[in-house]
Amino acid sequence: MADSPTGRLAYLQSPETVEIKEYEVPYPEPGALVTEIEQANVCGSELHIWKGNHPVLDQMVLGHEALCHVSDLGEGVETDYAGEPIEEGDLVSPTYFIACGKCQFCGAGEFRSCENALQHWLKDPDQWPHFHGTFGTHYYIHPEQHFYKVPTEIPPGVAAAANCALSQVLFGLDEVGLSCGESLVVQGGGGLGQNAIAVANEYGAETILVEGVDDRIERARRFSVDHVVDFREYETPEARGERVAELTGGLGADVAIELAGIPQAFAEGPHLLRNGSRYLEIGNITPGHTAEFDPALLTRKNIDVVSTMRYDPWYLGKALDFLAETVDDYPYAELIDAEFDLVDVSTALEKSDAREVGRASLIPSHGD
Ligand SMILES: [Zn+2]
Ligand SMILES: [Zn+2]
Repeated sequence: MADSPTGRLAYLQSPETVEIKEYEVPYPEPGALVTEIEQANVCGSELHIWKGNHPVLDQMVLGHEALCHVSDLGEGVETDYAGEPIEEGDLVSPTYFIACGKCQFCGAGEFRSCENALQHWLKDPDQWPHFHGTFGTHYYIHPEQHFYKVPTEIPPGVAAAANCALSQVLFGLDEVGLSCGESLVVQGGGGLGQNAIAVANEYGAETILVEGVDDRIERARRFSVDHVVDFREYETPEARGERVAELTGGLGADVAIELAGIPQAFAEGPHLLRNGSRYLEIGNITPGHTAEFDPALLTRKNIDVVSTMRYDPWYLGKALDFLAETVDDYPYAELIDAEFDLVDVSTALEKSDAREVGRASLIPSHGD
C-alpha cells in the first residue's frame, strides 16, 4: 500500500459482525489532531451498539472510550481545551462527541444535546478521515472536539475510562446539586456506580448502594461506600425503601441515581427517596424496554426528576483532575479487568457481553 502509513480499525458491519479494516493514516486539517490509540475500553453502551440495539448507531467504527497519544498536530493546535500546552507525544483524552457551538441547543447552553454530537462517529470509515471511533490503531480528533492532556499519575486503563463513566456521573451529580451532608442512593454497582460512590464521598455525601451481586458489593466497600442494601435480603421495592429510610433518619434519601440500566430500577426510585428529593436517571439508554410505573409516587413526594445523557464537554477536564487527586484513594484500576489486542476485538466484545470479564481494554499494537 504505497509509502503512506496505514492503520487499522474495528468496523461494525452488521450486528455482532466486526471487521478489521485498514486505511491510510490521515493528515490533520487545521484545528484537528491525529492520535495513536494507547488503550480503548469496551463500555456497556458499546455492547448495545454491537448487538444492534442502539437507536441511531450502526455500521460504524466502534469505540468511544480511549487514551490517545498525539502523533500529529493540525495547524493552530497549541493547547488543549483547558489551555495546557500540547505537543506531539502527549497523552490526551477526547470527548467521544462534539459540542459544535453553533446549533440551537449549543446556542442555548445545552451542550450535551448538541444536534451534531455524533456526526463524526456515525460516518462510514471509507469516508475521510476514516478513524471515527476509538477501536483502532489511530483516532482523529476534530476541530470543536474537546480533548484534555492526561495527568501522568493516572494509569492508562483508568484514564481511558474518564471520558465516559466518570465524566457522566460527575456531570449528573452536579446537575442534581448533590452536596455535603446529603444522602445518595446509588442503584447499581457497575463501573458507573463505583465512580458515583467515589464522587459522592469526595463531595461529603453519605452513600447507600442498592445491589445484589457479591463482587460488586465487595468492590463498593473498597470504594468506601457507607451502606449496602442487598436486594437478596430486602426483596421488594417497599422493603428496600424501608431500609433506606432506616438509614436516613426515617425519611428516605435526599438524592438517588439510577445506574443499573434496567427499567424496574427507575420504577423503584420514588420508594427510596424522601419528600422534596431529587432523582437522577442515567442508566436506561436503550428505548423499547419498559416497566410498570406509578407516577403518583413522584407527585406525592414532590420529587424532581433529572435525566442526563452525555455531559458538558469541559466535565472531561474536571474528571481528569478528579482522578489525578483521588487515584490513590479508590481502586479505579480494578474496574478494568481484561486486556485484548485490537485484532481480538470480537472476543473482547463476546466475553464482555457474557460477563466473563467486567470491563475489557483493547491495546492495539503499533509500528508494524
Ligand atoms: Zn462508555
Ligand atoms: Zn451543537
